Amino acid sequence: MTKPQTLLQERPAKGALTRTGGFLKGFSHTLQPYIGCRFGCSYCYVSQSNVHRFYNGGMEWGSYVYPRVGIAERLETELATLHRREALERTAIFMSSSTDPYQSAEQTYRLTRQCLSVFQKYPPGLLVIQTRAPLAARDFDIMATLEERCLLNLTIETDREDVRRVLTPHCPSIQLRLETARQARDHGITTQLTVSPCLPFSDVEAFGELILDSGDRVIVDSYVAGDGGGGKRTAHTAIPGLYARSGWEDWRSQEAALSLYDWLKRRIGHRAGWSKEGFTRQARRVTGKVC
Ligand code: SF4
Repeated sequence: MTKPQTLLQERPAKGALTRTGGFLKGFSHTLQPYIGCRFGCSYCYVSQSNVHRFYNGGMEWGSYVYPRVGIAERLETELATLHRREALERTAIFMSSSTDPYQSAEQTYRLTRQCLSVFQKYPPGLLVIQTRAPLAARDFDIMATLEERCLLNLTIETDREDVRRVLTPHCPSIQLRLETARQARDHGITTQLTVSPCLPFSDVEAFGELILDSGDRVIVDSYVAGDGGGGKRTAHTAIPGLYARSGWEDWRSQEAALSLYDWLKRRIGHRAGWSKEGFTRQARRVTGKVC
């Protein structure tokens, strides 16, 4: 599928860290180096959010990216303040919840890499980097220096390329992502594969083995458990129509996702997590927040 034109427009960052709650309660903050996301996944919940409503200027989700220039400088100031208040150890940051920090604009702008350099100076209790982009490998050198304070989450929602092409046509192939996960592990970076949301896949055992071959931990999620509205947000995306046209099962069904989670849990125990509890487990140990 051909990508539509993207509006790429710099926006000076007024701040860096945002206090968080809701699905990510357990973390203290989120960090978004970009506004908008070129991957434009058909299920993306951000397309239903106030962030999109405020910034879209009439454009569709996936067709604009605003690099938040100066964000690393803002971040350094904010982390220095947390350090002075002796709060840095209790800080757990999720980068990012409403954009992909390694989408193509990062190749040029390097905002995510600049932020990582600031984290080397002021390491938080936990930094979780969420991405689906092989470009993340460029920064494994910095991530590795943060040791157990840094977790890499790599999104792998299915093992079927035909499904990926229908639902997330502008995203990197599954094979590339799995290779990126293995490279991260080789660098000593703790890597979680996030099956989030779980899309139609081949079968439990084949997908489960593929996952276990590439990541240290796994989080499985579904549209209903993970969209923050019990499935209501997903109902307003292109997903219902795409599932109906493709002859897949009801998108609301969590059965396949739960079967995969159960299988993984039997194989790797607590290293498999479900939805919100799985995403926030490590963060809660740092912040002491209860979900
Ligand atoms: S990569 Fe993440 S933020 Fe970007 S469109 Fe896909 S789901 Fe949304």
